[in-house]
Amino acid sequence: MILNKSHITKMTTLDDYRKIVGNEKIDEIIKEAKPLKGKHVVHVNSTFYGGGVAELLDSLIYLMNQVGINAEWRLLKGNLSFFEITKSFHNGSQGADIELSPKIKRIYEEVNRHNSVFMRLEKSDAVIIHDPQVLASIKFHKKRQPWVWRCHIDISSPNKKLWNYLKDFINLYDEMIISGDCYHKKDVKIPQTVIMPSIDPLKDKNRKLSKQKIESTLSVLGIKFNKPIISQISRFDYWKDPCGVIEAFKKAKKKTDCQLILLGNSATDDPEGLKIYYEVLEKTKKMKDVTVLLNVDNNDLVVNALQSISAVVLQKSVREGFGLTVTEALWKSTPVIGGNTGGIPYQIVDGENGYLVNSVNECADRMVTLLEDEKLRRAMGKYAHEFVKENFLVTRHLLDYIKLLKRMMKIK
Ligand code: UDP
Repeated sequence: MILNKSHITKMTTLDDYRKIVGNEKIDEIIKEAKPLKGKHVVHVNSTFYGGGVAELLDSLIYLMNQVGINAEWRLLKGNLSFFEITKSFHNGSQGADIELSPKIKRIYEEVNRHNSVFMRLEKSDAVIIHDPQVLASIKFHKKRQPWVWRCHIDISSPNKKLWNYLKDFINLYDEMIISGDCYHKKDVKIPQTVIMPSIDPLKDKNRKLSKQKIESTLSVLGIKFNKPIISQISRFDYWKDPCGVIEAFKKAKKKTDCQLILLGNSATDDPEGLKIYYEVLEKTKKMKDVTVLLNVDNNDLVVNALQSISAVVLQKSVREGFGLTVTEALWKSTPVIGGNTGGIPYQIVDGENGYLVNSVNECADRMVTLLEDEKLRRAMGKYAHEFVKENFLVTRHLLDYIKLLKRMMKIK
């Protein structure tokens, strides 16, 4: 591997965000965070890489430390069968029919119990557990501090038997954080608070790139710029509907010439990804103007370049907890066509910064509309960037967490 400057992560400080969000917001964060100085806050999830949760934690935990919180990021250690089970919990939480035998429950709980020995959470001032993989760990700890369960997935219509099982763990927590009002659960006893996810504008994935940098980054992957690019950048997951994207592309291409790029990465806690990637490869192998990429080198720059150069970005999910990829593309002034589901309607204002769609046909029609109207794309792109700046930057997210932690720790 040839290593160069682009492989080095630049360390940012909170002050660097002043030029983007203004002094007032940064000063407020610093003031609000003061009473939390030195407090030990532990976040736990199940992967450092791949998927939106790892992406979020990467910036959030770093910035928590920047404001004086002693914030830590710990991982659950699991094996393949455990992650197959938790991926099925992920799917079941989003409504799929899954197997939930006593043996499955035993493996899930045993891994969580085993991990409780390594985690040593008892000395921290607050614990934040992300998603179902680590949810059960609360059962195996002596709870001496506030515990929050942060749910990142679409739990609007979960599989009933799974939900009844998970609910018993959820109710042991002090509070549950969800990504939108649509996930509010009537049958959960603990308080539920909405905190929307965010992107970090200073990360390689989101900083502004020159046209030359975009083209050189993508040329290495064999991408040509002779046809407008439509892209979907997602883990290979049925909920992201890559097959629907391919069908929509086929229909749109009959009306206006374009190329499709599907870029995905794998997460260590998602064993289903490779199977779906091969299905997508098979489906597209005879198609013209389709590029399918998995686990590219220099991932963040490639994602950035692709979201920046695409005429239209798709996120045609049929279930989506939030869908960070939508906000990432909007930030780059690229209109997004997204599935009308879960967290996507919080980000796409239909007809203003993209379109919400309910079918392959609708998706294809909207692609044609946008591809044929550069002026519309530009107007939507302008609105898109401002919309993200107002709502979905990491500085707002950090302040939400600071307020949550103070409330949980009863600090004024
Ligand atoms: N992503 C990436 N490389 C890829 C595909 C996706 O870095 O090849 C990132 C994407 O940029 C986003 C995250 O993975 O930051 C996906 O988050 P999202 O909330 O959209 O979906 P999730 O995977 O959590 O369901």
